[in-house]
Amino acid sequence: MHNNKYKILVIEDEDNINNLLKTLLETSGYQVLCAKTCDNGRMMFSSHRPDLVILDLGLPDYDGMTFLKSVRKDSLTPVIVLSARTDEKDKVDALDVGANDYVTKPFSSAELVARVRSALRNSRRSTIEGKLPGGRFKSGSLEIDYDARRVFVDKAEVTLTQTEYNIIAFLSEHSGKVMTYASIIRDIWGYNDLNSTKKLQVNMANIRKKLGDKPGKSNYIVNELGVGYRMCEVDESFSSFKYICGMSLVIK
Ligand code: CA
Repeated sequence: MHNNKYKILVIEDEDNINNLLKTLLETSGYQVLCAKTCDNGRMMFSSHRPDLVILDLGLPDYDGMTFLKSVRKDSLTPVIVLSARTDEKDKVDALDVGANDYVTKPFSSAELVARVRSALRNSRRSTIEGKLPGGRFKSGSLEIDYDARRVFVDKAEVTLTQTEYNIIAFLSEHSGKVMTYASIIRDIWGYNDLNSTKKLQVNMANIRKKLGDKPGKSNYIVNELGVGYRMCEVDESFSSFKYICGMSLVIK
């Protein structure tokens, strides 16, 4: 059974966080490798070929972004960036360079494990199925029929404009992952001008209203302020249905 475990490489220089992550991930059924510098991380990455990397940005030799850039030259292995930086610019940069997700320190164990699970699931989905057209997306009471381009909440159809549908479809194809404003705009309109962000905001406000999203409750789409939007997945492995994002998981 041991060989069937997902292998996770943790690149983090602080011992207490390193140990915490190792214990947490091993308890969750993963095999864990640790590196404390960017160089060491790169060596371990090429010799062990992990299924996922958790990457701290503040490393003693190089910035974690250096690792991310070099890995993205020839690998799609999911990378979750772990950072004390609350600056939105850093998050957007990391996502644009190819990070799959980010978690801001301090983080809760439950949140981190949920993000790991989601990143592994998404990468498996994209390698096995590719980007298959058609089919259905289901998350809690939200359902999307890609063939018919129709969206339902609690079995009732939600009337959407073409643009609104395109945005929902795009976010759902990357569910669990935060998509930056720029990447959404690029996909939907293909260009980025001064009005794009405003246009996106207006469309998102309408979408969230139509889906019945309300501030402060578990919503289908979460606005990661200053960064982008994330379509939530309902994780059925939780005993009671819980949204991976949108719930108040972060313990400060
Ligand atoms: Ca650090």
